[in-house]
Amino acid sequence: MLVTLKELLEDAQKKKYAIGSFNLHNMEMLPSFFEAAKETKTPISIQISNGTAKYIGLDLIVSMTRTLAERENVKVALHLDHNSDLDFIKKAVDAGFTSVMFDGAHLPLEENIRLTKDIVQYAHKQGVSVEAEVGAIGGTEDGVSVEHSNHTDPEEAAYFYKETNVDALAVSFGSAHGQYRSKAALDFDVLHKIYEAVDAPLVLHGGTGVSYDDIGVLIENGISKINIGTILNVTYIEKGKETFSESSLDNSLRNLLIPCNDKVKEIIKEKIYHFNNNRALAN
Ligand SMILES: [Zn+2]
Repeated sequence: MLVTLKELLEDAQKKKYAIGSFNLHNMEMLPSFFEAAKETKTPISIQISNGTAKYIGLDLIVSMTRTLAERENVKVALHLDHNSDLDFIKKAVDAGFTSVMFDGAHLPLEENIRLTKDIVQYAHKQGVSVEAEVGAIGGTEDGVSVEHSNHTDPEEAAYFYKETNVDALAVSFGSAHGQYRSKAALDFDVLHKIYEAVDAPLVLHGGTGVSYDDIGVLIENGISKINIGTILNVTYIEKGKETFSESSLDNSLRNLLIPCNDKVKEIIKEKIYHFNNNRALAN
């Protein structure tokens, strides 16, 4: 069943775990996301970058995800990740996404608030959740770079949340998009202050670079969603290089992609296990 991110975050906060939000890069990967969710009995969020949204199309993404969610009986939030195009975000709401992110982190605070409110008003009317970002999370993701990261100011975050009433707040305290060769040095002091100041469920972006040892403290300090993109893409390419280079030309393309999908499923299961504080959850 397609559900809102808000619903999933409430469940996560109640049961003290973090929802894994996983980046889709192509259609082939999608069933493996559902197999992982089903086998771990855990709801997930599937997040769509601007690039993937344009590549597959909003309508097809919604229909594929809805079909699989019903077939596999898994609770899934379909989330439009980082986007600052108001018209496009509204199209995603109309198309059937259950959550959208307006990313105005690069804007002055008041402008970020003004535009976020516009999206919140539009999305909430249709029962769709909204995530926004305060402070700037650095790094590169799906070809989009943010050169200067900027830790979230707890007071600004509290003010932003009060003004916008978003369902989830992405915060910056040391994680980075695209980080997979090393681990992030997280500033737990900043996170703790944000947690004390803000009532909103908090979101960690750049989850690939986060150590499993840190997950427990993150959840204790309000992190309710962890975004995972880079490791799925890296793994898919790594496995694909192997299968494509070893294959004869008369092989079915399908046979070269199935091992990549299987690898992605394994990684998602591993992430979910850690985000669940090492326990299975009933769906
Ligand atoms: Zn992100």
